[in-house]
Amino acid sequence: MGGFAARKEPAQGVALPLHAKALALEDTQGHRVVIVTLDLLGLTGPVVDRLAAAVERRYRLGRDRLLLCSSHTHSGPVIDDQLAVAYDLSRAQWDAIRAATRRIETQVEEVVGKALASIRPVRLRSGQSSAAFAGNRRTAFPGGPTDHAVPVLSVERPDGSRLAILFGYACHNTTLTAEFVRYHGDYAGVAQAELEHRHPGVTALFLAGCGADQNPSPRGSVELVNQHGKALADAVDRALGEARPVAGDQLRAAFTTVTLDCSPPPPAETWRARLQDSNPYVRRHARLMLDAIARDGQVQASEPAPLHALGIGDLNLVALSGEVVVDYALAIKRTYGSSTWVAAYTDTVFGYVPSVRVLREGGYEGGEALLYFGRPGPFADSVERTMMEGVEGLLATVRTA
Ligand SMILES: [Zn+2]
Repeated sequence: MGGFAARKEPAQGVALPLHAKALALEDTQGHRVVIVTLDLLGLTGPVVDRLAAAVERRYRLGRDRLLLCSSHTHSGPVIDDQLAVAYDLSRAQWDAIRAATRRIETQVEEVVGKALASIRPVRLRSGQSSAAFAGNRRTAFPGGPTDHAVPVLSVERPDGSRLAILFGYACHNTTLTAEFVRYHGDYAGVAQAELEHRHPGVTALFLAGCGADQNPSPRGSVELVNQHGKALADAVDRALGEARPVAGDQLRAAFTTVTLDCSPPPPAETWRARLQDSNPYVRRHARLMLDAIARDGQVQASEPAPLHALGIGDLNLVALSGEVVVDYALAIKRTYGSSTWVAAYTDTVFGYVPSVRVLREGGYEGGEALLYFGRPGPFADSVERTMMEGVEGLLATVRTA
């Protein structure tokens, strides 16, 4: 199971089924986008590249029009070699993970095809409410910046009956902790199941927001995961009650990949010295860095970060890769309006994306976590400017006046 270094047992069955779901939208001029939501920790670059190529080949849908959004549940399977430093796994277990990853890719490809094949006339409504269970995990609770918004998109048949609900929230999907060893979609999984129960026939899809530095509060039990999931479903229902028609019938998509620079990595002798460290994760990370130097002559000191923006009528959605801290969502909404929907964990989940504030403060999201993601070190101070300039360029393309 993916997400916790402290979890040493393999999954003991399924507590709540994990889903891949797809919402395909097409405007009157034939522009299409597909938003895939996955009850997974995240995808890696190679997985996204393979999926995007397969979807382009099979369905003629471009990379800019496919959003692969993970819920960041920590009670799902390990995908590809993500967070390899964090896990003690045998070669046979890594082989099994690679095979399972390929099976999941095939399933995602299929669900994209099914969604595209079932396009029919719809009308859209959007709204927003809030839920209060996310707390900034870098400060005592309550305290520190949060984003409690619950943005909602309702997809309805011309007669008003509902087909799908897309909803978001900015909080780590980690109500369940390392002792929990069954597959489960965490609070986002409960909220989706609850909404599908309350609205028979509807598909509910979850988009994780910039909740990298946010945790559910309190957390640590099945009782609490059900409590938070239902609180989020209640918030979605409140937003649906006040949702207004999306104005405009055009679908616009923009996509770019920005390069996030890391601070300069230490020389090889530093990694060699760390092979003797008392911390096994530091030793495994150092081994990974030395292997990269032996193979490529250097460690990879930058990270490609895919960024998407969609204009769905007058609704603007920004979807960022990585584990993005809440400062980004707050900054984007300050600049572009509070109705802007900001998602993260889209396409690749390569590590934490701190703001300059969080980077300077340090700590887990500021740089320490990059060890587990197998990166050489923290991002450089340019990280926030690079991300925000990327977003600015995309929104300039998709926003209506
Ligand atoms: Zn995380």
